Amino acid sequence: MPTYSGACHCGAVTFAILADTMKSDLYRCNCSLCTKKAIIMKPVHRDNFQLTGGEKVLSIYKWNKHIAEHFFCSTCGVYTHHKRRSDPSQISVNFGCLDNAIIPPENEIDLIDGAELE
Ligand SMILES: [Zn+2]
Repeated sequence: MPTYSGACHCGAVTFAILADTMKSDLYRCNCSLCTKKAIIMKPVHRDNFQLTGGEKVLSIYKWNKHIAEHFFCSTCGVYTHHKRRSDPSQISVNFGCLDNAIIPPENEIDLIDGAELE
């Protein structure tokens, strides 16, 4: 599988994922947190995710059941990835953080009902 690299806005936090394609499996979520972030996410198995830099500036946000772990850069504030509550074996990354990401049309993005879990 090809490797896709990504970073937060200031570049302190960097990561890499292995995925068949950059644009497969993209989704948005309608929970209250994702609504405020308005981001598109790409899920990968945790074995296919590697944090490559910025561990010391990475902050974590937990809420609700405190199962999902939402990571963001403490310098620029950009959300980079999270450990999924619905499947903790998966990491979802912020699609917009991937290098050269171009936001696809909405009809290519799934919507998951995270609000239902709240
Ligand atoms: Zn940053």
